[in-house]
Amino acid sequence: MIRTGIGYDSHRFAEGRRFVLGGVEIPSDVGLLGHSDADALIHALIDALLGAVAAGDIGQHFSDSDPTWKDADSRKLLASVMSELEAGHWRVMNVDATVVAERPKLAPYIVRMRESLAALLHVEVSQVSVKAKTNEGMDAVGHSEGIAVWAVATVESTSGENVTKDF
Ligand code: MG
Repeated sequence: MIRTGIGYDSHRFAEGRRFVLGGVEIPSDVGLLGHSDADALIHALIDALLGAVAAGDIGQHFSDSDPTWKDADSRKLLASVMSELEAGHWRVMNVDATVVAERPKLAPYIVRMRESLAALLHVEVSQVSVKAKTNEGMDAVGHSEGIAVWAVATVESTSGENVTKDF
């Protein structure tokens, strides 16, 4: 049994914050604002994975009013979601993401992001796609107010059953 989920996330730019994407810290004159480390790529992937198994969304699992997740490393959130997925007999087949950002230049970091995510998702790098583009100067993302990420994830049941459980 194969299922697919979609995820989306956005974060505003903010001074004095780190710019972390896909678990990789990227040199940038501006960071991302958020309750956790604001890793929009991991957050979108988490929503795609949870969506694939109809298990709600990231906010239900990791509340942004919970001090536990203040400045949290989003890799830990994804690791937690992967533990739940695997406990429910699901494995990741592939993920694909598009990051929309006017800056910083992301191309030099794509491979590192794919490697970082593959390790967290327990798959090969070839099963992880990350793409980056600008918004051609249009709208809030195009005006460099922040970034947006879309992601899809496809998972396969290792038990052969199309059964999801409450996480
Ligand atoms: Mg987020």
